[in-house]
Amino acid sequence: MVRAVVGANWGDEGKGKITDMLGQSSDIIVRFQGGSNAGHTIINNYGKFALHLLPSGVFYGHTTSIIGNGVALNIPYLFREIQEIVKKGVPEPKILVSNRAQILMPYHILFDQYEEERLGGKSFGSTKSGIAPFYSDKYAKIGFQVSELFDDALLEEKTVRICEQKNVILKYLYHKPELDPKELLATLHEYRDMVAPYVCDTAAFLQEAIHEGKTILLEGQLGALKDPDFGIYPMVTSSSTLAAYGAIGAGIPPYEIKDIITVVKAYSSAVGAGEFVSEIFGEEADELRRRGGDGGEFGATTGRPRRMGWFDAVASRYGCRMQGATEVALTVLDVLGYLEEIPVCVGYEIDGKVTKEFPTTAALAKAKPVYEKLPGWKCDIRGIQTYEELPENCRRYVEFIEKELNVPITMVSNGPGREEIIRRNV
Ligand code: GDP
Repeated sequence: MVRAVVGANWGDEGKGKITDMLGQSSDIIVRFQGGSNAGHTIINNYGKFALHLLPSGVFYGHTTSIIGNGVALNIPYLFREIQEIVKKGVPEPKILVSNRAQILMPYHILFDQYEEERLGGKSFGSTKSGIAPFYSDKYAKIGFQVSELFDDALLEEKTVRICEQKNVILKYLYHKPELDPKELLATLHEYRDMVAPYVCDTAAFLQEAIHEGKTILLEGQLGALKDPDFGIYPMVTSSSTLAAYGAIGAGIPPYEIKDIITVVKAYSSAVGAGEFVSEIFGEEADELRRRGGDGGEFGATTGRPRRMGWFDAVASRYGCRMQGATEVALTVLDVLGYLEEIPVCVGYEIDGKVTKEFPTTAALAKAKPVYEKLPGWKCDIRGIQTYEELPENCRRYVEFIEKELNVPITMVSNGPGREEIIRRNV
């Protein structure tokens, strides 16, 4: 059985915690898109971890972690992450890397930085992890596939060819030092030696696992609103963040994905630039940011303060729809316990008309939030284990959101820890 854990919002919904929790009952956990440009924060018996490339299942002895073909594979980064968790006492995890994954090269990171410098104030708010240059190269068919590391003749020819092309841009567009093909080849040889023990045909491995009835979890990065097709283009990421892409990025049949657990945050937050209709500012935002997440809302990869906002029903419903949500996990509900009243964005006013449909970016830029205020519950709900024990106003908030989303909320998360979850039978 294949399940996916994906985000309905702009990322940082708390997917890491939900994946970590569901990992307990999974045999295999697969990363299928993105790279080390966003992170999950996970708190468990071994300590607190910010994972960027490793699937959240690495802490369990019984799971196999897979880096799927859809991932932007930064090999030294993967290596460092494995070493770091092992240093903190986590048993050596079982990791498989797709032979069809492509390699994030050192020059992808440089090109990301140079392009941001060139654009100055007009930049896309990239995390400068090389993700956009990586996916550009993959689709321009000048990327390096893991399998190619093991073909010496091909590698030699290709490094020369790629350097020729990259150096024109480095020299004339960015005025930066050029690449040396010999150095690049040496780097690729190092990468080959680092990754060799993990490489296999992961699609074949997964096919066999499905056949044997294993439980597989696909772990998404970022959220629906950062998807290049359906998100707030161009302020999006460069690989699809949707559960549907899980089939491609892992190499499994689409009809095998039976359950799409979509993580929705009880308020909004976003990192980087882009339209954000229910954004709040000033002291109101500072207070939510301070109280948010686990010790404040700051990016797991960049440490940047996250932009804050009220729950956006228009964006979240759309996010759930594009994910194909079969159930919703509502997270960080405990954070809202301090509020007398909680505004919820239930519509967008665009050119004097109110809509409940999430529009394309140009219209989104004109949208003003239409709020409905719900009464707060004014207490700490951490530690509560059953839905019935939640204060009435808290349940009303959950049920209001459920109605707006039109998807059953089967889990309510009321704290960052693995056990802090309330299951609902709906
Ligand atoms: P992800 O990328 O979707 O996994 O999200 P992040 O890990 O970047 O951000 C979620 C943050 O919220 C992390 O610091 C989590 O530890 C924390 N978190 C997750 N669920 C809850 C929750 O229910 N309550 C609180 N207070 N924090 C949570």
